[in-house]
Amino acid sequence: MDFPFEDAPNTACIVCRHVMDKEKAITYISHDADDGMWQFLCDEEHAEEDARIISLYSAYMMDQSIGQVFDMPCGCYIQRKNGEDNWK
Ligand SMILES: [Zn+2]
Repeated sequence: MDFPFEDAPNTACIVCRHVMDKEKAITYISHDADDGMWQFLCDEEHAEEDARIISLYSAYMMDQSIGQVFDMPCGCYIQRKNGEDNWK
């Protein structure tokens, strides 16, 4: 299977516990300006304890649509309405 990201598959990234537990779809992606960390979150409010560190590969396995934004530069974020929507 193709892994679209330039980052290594074992790069650490953040998902929220809702996404981790497959309760909610990913509707928010950010690529941090300072450390290059990817975050994949749902549309809930999040506290620090909701964050889970997983590999970028695991996140991609959960939702391969995140591969659509593999080239999003650091310092950017993108949102979508729901899990079926495309990332623009
Ligand atoms: Zn969440």
